[in-house]
Amino acid sequence: MAGDNIATPMMVQYLGLKAKAEDCLLFYRMGDFFELFFDDARAAAATLDIALTSRGEHDGNPIPMCGVPVHAAEGYLARLIKAGHRVAIAEQTESPEQAKARGGSKTLVARDIVRFVTAGTLTEDSLLDSWSSNMLVAVAQVGEAFGLAAADISTGHFELVTVPHGSLEAELARLAASEVVVPDGFMYAPPDVIVRPRVDFDSVIGGDRLKQHFALETLASIGPVTRAEQAAAGGLIAYLAHAGQGKMPFLKLPVRREVHAHLLIDQATRDSLEINSASKGGRAGSLLAEVDRTITGAGARQLAADLAAPLMDKTQIDARLSLVQWFHDAPLTRDAVRSALRALPDIARALGRVVAGRGSPRDLGQIRDGLDAARMLRERLGNMADKPVLLDQLLPVLDGHGHMVDHLARALVSTPPTDTAQGGYIAEGFDAALDVLRGAGRDGRQAIAQMEARYREATGIAALKIRHNAVLGYFVEVPARHGDALMAPGTGFTHRQTMAGAVRFNSPELHEEAVRITQAGGHALAAEAAHLEELVAMVLARRDQIAASADALARIDVSAALAERAAESNWCRPSFVAHPCLEIESGRHPVVESALAKSGDRFIANDCKLSPEKRLWLVSGPNMGGKSTFLRQNALIVLLAQAGSYVPATSARLGLVDRLFSRVGASDNLARGRSTFMVEMVETAAILAQATERSFVILDEVGRGTSTYDGLAIAWAVVEGIHETNRCRCLFATHYHELTRLSESLDALSLHHVRAKEYKGDLVLLHELAEGPADRSYGIAVAKLAGLPPQVVARASSVLARLEKGRAETGGLAAGLGDLPLFSAALDAAEAKVDALRDKLTGLDIDALSPRAALDLLYELKRAAGEN
Ligand code: ADP
Repeated sequence: MAGDNIATPMMVQYLGLKAKAEDCLLFYRMGDFFELFFDDARAAAATLDIALTSRGEHDGNPIPMCGVPVHAAEGYLARLIKAGHRVAIAEQTESPEQAKARGGSKTLVARDIVRFVTAGTLTEDSLLDSWSSNMLVAVAQVGEAFGLAAADISTGHFELVTVPHGSLEAELARLAASEVVVPDGFMYAPPDVIVRPRVDFDSVIGGDRLKQHFALETLASIGPVTRAEQAAAGGLIAYLAHAGQGKMPFLKLPVRREVHAHLLIDQATRDSLEINSASKGGRAGSLLAEVDRTITGAGARQLAADLAAPLMDKTQIDARLSLVQWFHDAPLTRDAVRSALRALPDIARALGRVVAGRGSPRDLGQIRDGLDAARMLRERLGNMADKPVLLDQLLPVLDGHGHMVDHLARALVSTPPTDTAQGGYIAEGFDAALDVLRGAGRDGRQAIAQMEARYREATGIAALKIRHNAVLGYFVEVPARHGDALMAPGTGFTHRQTMAGAVRFNSPELHEEAVRITQAGGHALAAEAAHLEELVAMVLARRDQIAASADALARIDVSAALAERAAESNWCRPSFVAHPCLEIESGRHPVVESALAKSGDRFIANDCKLSPEKRLWLVSGPNMGGKSTFLRQNALIVLLAQAGSYVPATSARLGLVDRLFSRVGASDNLARGRSTFMVEMVETAAILAQATERSFVILDEVGRGTSTYDGLAIAWAVVEGIHETNRCRCLFATHYHELTRLSESLDALSLHHVRAKEYKGDLVLLHELAEGPADRSYGIAVAKLAGLPPQVVARASSVLARLEKGRAETGGLAAGLGDLPLFSAALDAAEAKVDALRDKLTGLDIDALSPRAALDLLYELKRAAGEN
């Protein structure tokens, strides 16, 4: 066909479908290929590194095209989606025969878009990471509130939450969506969102859609679903219906989350703490990778979700911790459970595919095996004494599928295939009629083997074979030199095909047997397909219970894995108190500790003790001294504790944290290539605006991104602001020695430093925290350690000596700050000025003023406003 003019009707059909495909690449099915044309072809060829060809003409130009074979399409789809594309799949919706019957021999086969494949609507195993969830999130706004509806359709997970404006970003960060859908005209859209019609996000229609999808009389069975959540849920369901072109994927009844049920962590903090992925990208080096000892994909996904959304409820956290402790204190039980989990297939995702209509016999087999293992686990754990409450709740959920599992065990072979075309997945003995059909096939094949032996004897041709291929079916084949013998009339053989070295024949007897085999085979396939349909229906009827069992298994996996991790490195169970403190003894940074251990180095543990009276620690000391590590380890310990994990310390006691913030100074951030100082200030502003008395903030070298004076001034004011206004727990690392003077005016601030000493002229960093300010900055010693040439080091030392002399004489960088009014007084003064203006304005009788007097007054007001 290449080089032909593309038949106009086909181009018309193509362009029509392309118009429906929005901004997706269109996969246009032609025989065994999906073809792409025009710009789609260019984009796909570039991403997939496949040949771009052209065919036919459109408007006088050759049409660029490329194609991927249908049987390998999944792999190509995965790469396109990863590269940020979305794909619309246009399939043939009738066979060529049907098209012919409809409109004659030249009729174009009808095609339609059957599915939109996007990052958030994948269910194929090969397109997903087994250890991470794949969230699709729809956002809607009703009044001041934002509703979020989030779903992972590969497992059916579905949740709703309402957040105020200030928490939208943190909530989106928690969900880490692979795709975000918003209504047209939405104001707070993060980049790369999918914009959908506003009507899809109507809250009334949304509420109806929810009820309809879950066949509910009232939404009350979900909980107090807000209007914003209804709007978001409506948008989500509409988008899924659109993506599947009417075919809905698996959604469990949504779980409502309360935004205050979680420790809020915004994106910048997640990045800086490297929670789910490391700053250089990827999972390696992240907290998650360091902690994760889960066995199953579902467990890994649950752990990632737990770390992304630590809890705010002490009872819930303690319930998780008690289960971790139970596994921690019983290593044998833990090992047994973990080896049982090792054999467990991914039930949740298998179920997701079954519900999406793409389930295979293998998926049913996985559900059967997974639930069977769950039942055994329940039996094993059920008998044990002193089980924690959470386990008592989880165990019953594991069971109850006995009848279905037994049925699947009888119905399916032990390892069923993915592909149904060859049959063979329904077990022998399940259906007597099917066994008879299969028997007929087997007998037929045996009869043919006997026939072959007979023919050899009768013709005397030892090389005679009866063979089978897809085109001819069964045939008799002899080497070419024996061909003539069988051609002779009266042999009973009829000639079918002459090949280079062989001649092929048919015989009436063979034909008859072949028909019998084919018929039996066809009937057997149909019988198997009917059974498959029944089995799928049976699984679908129990999908919620199956999903609940899968969730329970994931929770058990996570708890045993956290216990394993804790046991590996001697972690401790944290405890929670009512007042906002943070008391950590011998805390460690899990990721840095492991990295050091690899090179045989020891991590130095450090204490941290924040209380309402001493809630702000100013940490100074040389670069590379361990300040950032100390700050982060405490933030990570808070996060792990509230996620229900043991923590890397010998003891940890804390008051629940409502928001966690972490900011690092601009220069540490250079790699991200943003206007760094601006970013630093925007992020710092967010902390000052949002941190509460229950929050925990770590600030590392704030103010480093600008000139010394500016930087010091900003750092100074930020510390004061946090101390006086936010009043949160805070660790503030700085290299500005001058800031230590703040301890004179701020009661709840205390001074600390990372220790270093000089030994025989060399700097030794002890990575050990001590009280009080650092005695000096050691900058030149660090420079020497880093390998600066000796002459440069010597010169720097003499410059420093001069500067220090100057400082001693003038009072140095912070010389003018001796009589600085207090931060609170400065706030009051600003307040007072505004108040004076306000008093004046409210006291005015405008109508009584002459134009002249009005003008004078304006001048006066302006002067008052400008006064310092
Ligand atoms: P700073 O923020 O003071 O410049 P970092 O926290 O970045 O220092 O630490 C620098 C390096 O020192 C780390 O990469 C790590 O290898 C090592 N280090 C930090 N803290 C410790 C510790 N407590 N024990 C052992 N080594 C540490």
